[in-house]
Amino acid sequence: MSTAGGIIRALNSGVKHLAVKRFTLRYPEQKLKFVGDGFRFNPETGVGIAGLRGRHILFHEHCTGCQLCSVACEGIAEAIGMVKVNETWKHNKKAIMPQIDYGKCVFCGLCVDACPFYALYMTNDYELSSFTKSALIYTPAQLAVKPKMAQDVDIKIDDRGATHG
Ligand code: SF4
Ligand code: SF4
Repeated sequence: MSTAGGIIRALNSGVKHLAVKRFTLRYPEQKLKFVGDGFRFNPETGVGIAGLRGRHILFHEHCTGCQLCSVACEGIAEAIGMVKVNETWKHNKKAIMPQIDYGKCVFCGLCVDACPFYALYMTNDYELSSFTKSALIYTPAQLAVKPKMAQDVDIKIDDRGATHG
């Protein structure tokens, strides 16, 4: 491409973006609020429903302790360990549930696909940083807590990428 052609192309691109709303956010004062649910499994269609792959949520009342989520993760990140819980459920005789190490998790969602009891979904919670490695390990009790989401800016994800809502 000639120099003049390059300049015209650059100008053209710049002018086109004048009308595009600025995307940069002043985090942490401004935070993302993703529209819709996180990644989960649809029992009717048998496939995953697209959604943000943030921190998991574990529904204790559905978890049988079958360990399939842990097996699914074994060849990927070994982020899931099965641990004892104090609760007693008729459907979870061993009283074990997954705990997830977010220092290892790659947010692939295979554990969600693998759970036959729809006990494990992902959420829109993306604020997981911590000062210690141990704080990145979420116990079954922590995984059961519904995340509080930031309210500032709506972001809609579609096949063209992220846009302001
Ligand atoms: S999302 Fe995380 S915990 Fe689940 S299978 Fe993938 S790496 Fe393992
Ligand atoms: S979360 Fe699902 S796959 Fe994992 S132990 Fe519980 S029931 Fe089994």
